[in-house]
Amino acid sequence: AYSSMALGLEPSRLEIQRAAQLKPKPDPSELRVFGKNVTDHMMSIEWNVLSGWGTPRIHPYGKVSLEPHASVLNFAQSCFEGFKAYRTPSGKVALFRPDMNMKRMQTSAWRATLPEFDSDAMIQLVKQLVRLEKDWVPDMPGYSLYVRPLLFGTEGTLVVAPPTDAMLTVICCPVGPYYPEGFKPIALYGTTEFIRAAPGGIGSYKLGANYVTGVIAAKEAARQGCVQNLWLQGPEHLITEVGTMNAMTVFKHPDGTVELATAPLDGMILPGITRDSVLCLAREHASGKTKIEGLPDKFCVSERGISMKEVQEAAKTGTLVEFFGTGTAAVISPVNRIRYLNEDVHIPTGPDGMGPVSKPLWQRLVAIQTGTIEHPWSIVV
Ligand code: PMP
Repeated sequence: AYSSMALGLEPSRLEIQRAAQLKPKPDPSELRVFGKNVTDHMMSIEWNVLSGWGTPRIHPYGKVSLEPHASVLNFAQSCFEGFKAYRTPSGKVALFRPDMNMKRMQTSAWRATLPEFDSDAMIQLVKQLVRLEKDWVPDMPGYSLYVRPLLFGTEGTLVVAPPTDAMLTVICCPVGPYYPEGFKPIALYGTTEFIRAAPGGIGSYKLGANYVTGVIAAKEAARQGCVQNLWLQGPEHLITEVGTMNAMTVFKHPDGTVELATAPLDGMILPGITRDSVLCLAREHASGKTKIEGLPDKFCVSERGISMKEVQEAAKTGTLVEFFGTGTAAVISPVNRIRYLNEDVHIPTGPDGMGPVSKPLWQRLVAIQTGTIEHPWSIVV
C-alpha cells in the first residue's frame, strides 16, 4: 500500500554533482560493441514504499551497491528502456519519442510490481542528464547516444513480493551503427525449441526477465550459422519477433497491392517504438496523407498473424517482397534467409541490402530521428 505521505518523482529537487575530471571521448572505432562505453555522469533515484521517491541525483558514473538478497538479483524484479539522442544538422541534441518509452516503462513497472512514477517528470530528468552529456552525442551518420533507464527492486529479502525499496538509474552510452558493415542483410534461425512469450506472460513488457530466455536461442542461432533467432508462436509457427526486434513481412498480392504486415499487439509482442513509427509512416503513405517517395502507390498495412508456411509459400511463388526487423538499436535490419526446420527460405533484398519498402521508410524515419525533417516525434533537449 502506498502511504499518503509518499513523494512523487520531483524534477525540481534534482541535485547535480559534476565529475571532477571528464573522460576522453572514445574513438568511433571503439563504439562497435553496443553499450560498452558509458558517459561521465549517470542519474539515480531511490524509492521506498513509505517515503516515496527520493532526491533525483545526477552524479559521476559509478557502481551500484546491492545486498545479495536484493530482490532484483534473486527474482529479476527489473524493467528498463532504451531510446536514442541524435545530433541534429544545426548541432542541437534531440530525443526520439521519449514519451512512448516512458509510457512503456510505466506498464513494465506495473507488471513487475515496481513503483509507479510520473512519465513527464522522468522525461524532464532525462533531458537534464542528456543536456549535461551533450558533448557525448556523436556527430556522424548512424551514431547516437543511447539512453538506458533501469528500475529495479533493492529490498533485501527472500520473500517473493512487491519490493519495499527500489532504485531508478539512467545511464548513457555513445553507440555506433548496430551493423558496422552497413546494411548487410542477416540470416535468421527459426527457433522451434524455445518460446519467448505466452498468453498472460511478460512478452509485451520490457522486463529483464524477458531477455535471459533469448540468450540461449541466440546462441543456438549462431551455432546454426545465423545472426539472430526468429521467434515463432504456437502450432502454426506464427512470426512474432526477430531476436530483440519486431518482425515485418512484405507481400505482393495478385492485384499488385504491396502489403506491409506485422504481428498484432496481442500481449506476446513487445510494442516497439520503431514498429509503431514504421506503421504510422506507412499508413500515412497508404492513406495519401503524407506520401513517401519510393513506396509503392498500391500499398496497405496490416497487423495480423503471419505463419512460416505463408512466408515459405510466398518465397516459392515469388510474392515475398522482403522481410526485416525494426528496433531502436539497428532501426531497420533486412533479412535475406530464414533457416527453418532444416530448410532455407530465401528472401529477396535490394542491391544495397534494403528492399523497396524498407528503404524509403528507413530514409524517412532516420531523417525524422536526426532532425533533418522537422517532426513532433523529435524532442530537442
Ligand atoms: N522486441 C523486443 C523483444 C525488444 O527488446 C525490442 C527493443 N526494445 C523491440 C522489439 C523493438 O522495440 P523498439 O523499437 O522500441 O526499440
